Amino acid sequence: MTTNRPDLKDNPLLVTTGIPDFEKIKAHHVAPALNSVLAKAEEVLQKIEKDIVPSWNGLLKPLEEIGIPFEYAWGPITHLLGVKNSDAFREAHQAVLNKIVSFFLRFNQSLSIYQGLKNIKEGNEWQTLNTAQKRVIEIKLKEAKHSGVELKGEDKNRFNEIKQELSQLATDFSNHLLDATKAFSLTVRHIEDTAGWPENLKQLAAQSYNQIKTETEEIATAENGPWRITLDFPSFGTFIQHHRQREDRQKIYHAFMTRASEAELDNRPLIDRILKLRLEMAKILGFDNYADLSLDSKMAPDTASIEKMSEELKQAAQPFAKKDLEDLKKLAIDSGQTDPLKHWDMAFWGERLREQRFDYTDEQLRPYFQLPKVLDGLFSLAERLFSIVIEPGGSSIPKWHPDVQYFKVLDSKQTPIASFYLDPYSRPEEKSGGAWMDECLNRRWIKGSLRLPIIYLCCNGTPPIGDRPSLMSFREVETLFHEFGHGLQGMLTRVDYSDVAGINGVEWDAVELPSQFMENWCYHKKTLLGMTEHFETGEQLPTDLFNKILESRTFQSGLMMMRQLLFGITDIKLHNAHDPNKHMDAFKIYRQMTAEYSALPPYEHDYFLCGFSHIFAGGYAAGYYSYKWAEVLSADAFAAFEEGGLENDSSNYQLGQRFKETILSKGGSEHPMEIFKQFRGREPSTAALLRHSGLLNK
Ligand code: ZN
Repeated sequence: MTTNRPDLKDNPLLVTTGIPDFEKIKAHHVAPALNSVLAKAEEVLQKIEKDIVPSWNGLLKPLEEIGIPFEYAWGPITHLLGVKNSDAFREAHQAVLNKIVSFFLRFNQSLSIYQGLKNIKEGNEWQTLNTAQKRVIEIKLKEAKHSGVELKGEDKNRFNEIKQELSQLATDFSNHLLDATKAFSLTVRHIEDTAGWPENLKQLAAQSYNQIKTETEEIATAENGPWRITLDFPSFGTFIQHHRQREDRQKIYHAFMTRASEAELDNRPLIDRILKLRLEMAKILGFDNYADLSLDSKMAPDTASIEKMSEELKQAAQPFAKKDLEDLKKLAIDSGQTDPLKHWDMAFWGERLREQRFDYTDEQLRPYFQLPKVLDGLFSLAERLFSIVIEPGGSSIPKWHPDVQYFKVLDSKQTPIASFYLDPYSRPEEKSGGAWMDECLNRRWIKGSLRLPIIYLCCNGTPPIGDRPSLMSFREVETLFHEFGHGLQGMLTRVDYSDVAGINGVEWDAVELPSQFMENWCYHKKTLLGMTEHFETGEQLPTDLFNKILESRTFQSGLMMMRQLLFGITDIKLHNAHDPNKHMDAFKIYRQMTAEYSALPPYEHDYFLCGFSHIFAGGYAAGYYSYKWAEVLSADAFAAFEEGGLENDSSNYQLGQRFKETILSKGGSEHPMEIFKQFRGREPSTAALLRHSGLLNK
């Protein structure tokens, strides 16, 4: 290993101090840097494995250090892929991806390291380690165990076979779904049939028509059509909300609910096979069922606790869902619908009701939310609650785009503790959609000195136009608060072991706590109004508009809650009650749950499971409940502030300190239930979420 070669010299990805030089990193740096990092890491790994020293300093420290060069070489590349995507970067990334994945697979499944970790746990040193150190070791042991490291002989072969088949089945599942989604379309040709459509649906549908039309066919326009509606959600979802002809809505609803349930694209046999294999895999690892395996690394202690949460929320939400449904039925009848309300009417009348009750649009709110002003509000909130100071971090920091901003975070004694990049605007040509927080550099001790965390906050907000500042929709403001909440956990960490510092090591069902907690402040009048200023008139957001935002938060929330609960509980039951040998098939379970949780009687052709890719082709198997679980936590944490009085500065300050000392600074270093109890003084309760969702009787 030498760094004298020309392709390694001046390679910015091989600099392992300071801040990554985003202005210098080019696609041609990727392969040489990563090959060099990998070779070196492999060398170190072999050395560790050959001579296992079962102690913290002998094993965990060198294991942690292996990560550092990857942080500087691989981290910036995956980041740039999300914010500055190009063919060259994608190819460079793809070319090394497999090698990286297999290295970490081998790293995490190393039997000798596993034995070494076990020896530490059983040895004398264990008692002298602190909670965070014990968590690092326990998390590593669990991950290795779940990846089959302890298995031998026949079991090991079978386990690996199952893993492989499951990965193929997940790919097939999503391919079927994609193909089935693509196979259907509905073309609207008469302008009178588009009455009530929003402009963006017309544009989308005309564009979609032009993508598949033959050369001799006319070119579609948003104004004159033809308009092609597909089962892609932006098209389907908007159409079913706004299209006035019931028969068309029924047709598209049927198509949507029966996706991937027929012929060669039928996902039903795949679902059975996936559930069967997951059960078998869980049993090989010593669990009763797959749900138990999934929960072994989550905050929720067992399926009973999830069922309890679900039941509580359901009991409260059900009467409201009935009322929500009655509202829709009444509106339909009053508006002249003579047939009973069906599934394909729900979204349509839901939208009409929303228009009736809240006569405001996103566009009306935008002029009040200028990004710089919103940032001021957000930062001063964080400063008040957590006694930190946020200030611009200097213009000389290398950035990947001129719009990117860099900030420093200091504690109350003006000591730097972290910094962050904010990449606020949408750039569809090179940046992924959505919003996310990620770590650039984690908090670490390197050669006796502390390296402070740096994180990325990436959003897709509306850019400034001309000399008009960026004007945000309310949803964009909420999203910014959300990501900043993740960011706070990444930046205010005080944990010294990078595996459990910041968001690392935080259980999947607890990781959305700080982010959703921060969103709550967008519904606090003083906080929200304080960051509004009409960009032309300078006025604050009028109170009546604020009240409408507040009211619309709980619009039809009974129905929405029941829908999310249905998905969550179905997912759990599929993974703990499903028994392929006792004819408890997946659809039977789903129908039972639908009968229990759905406001309308189940649709007879409801094959929703065939499109439930979150759990059959994504990472949410026996984990979909996490959405609600984390919402319970974040609402309950915010309720502590409400109880203290949101206008009471000293209470906010005290609770803010406690939130910082527990949830934000401890991150993954203790079990999330313990940390939650340290903040709240008790286990989480569903009451606050129900209250925030408007699901408590007044
Ligand atoms: Zn999040």
